[in-house]
Amino acid sequence: MKENLGLGLNPPKEKCEDHKCPWHGSLSVRGKILEGVVKSTKTHKTATVEWKYIKFVRKYERYERRKSSVAAYNPDCMNAKEGDSVVIVECRALSKTKHFVIVHVDKAKADK
Ligand SMILES: [Zn+2]
Repeated sequence: MKENLGLGLNPPKEKCEDHKCPWHGSLSVRGKILEGVVKSTKTHKTATVEWKYIKFVRKYERYERRKSSVAAYNPDCMNAKEGDSVVIVECRALSKTKHFVIVHVDKAKADK
């Protein structure tokens, strides 16, 4: 098990046997780091993570609200549920559409 992923996050309390887990397996993480909320966990070991951001539209000199989402791997030790606030990091392609993995779950921030 890795004590640190170089992201300033504490390792999870639970353990898992998954080789695709960044903490307990051999999956290495690099690239983009994003924070979002879990929208759906219907897919096997996968969570759809959505985040909102604002973008300036020059024509109207105003901001518009936008949202984006991505599929992220959800290892057993993370066990993120719908509505949880999570941190995801880019990793190698785990499937056709999955190249992010959940590295941290924040239940306290979940009600937002
Ligand atoms: Zn794990």
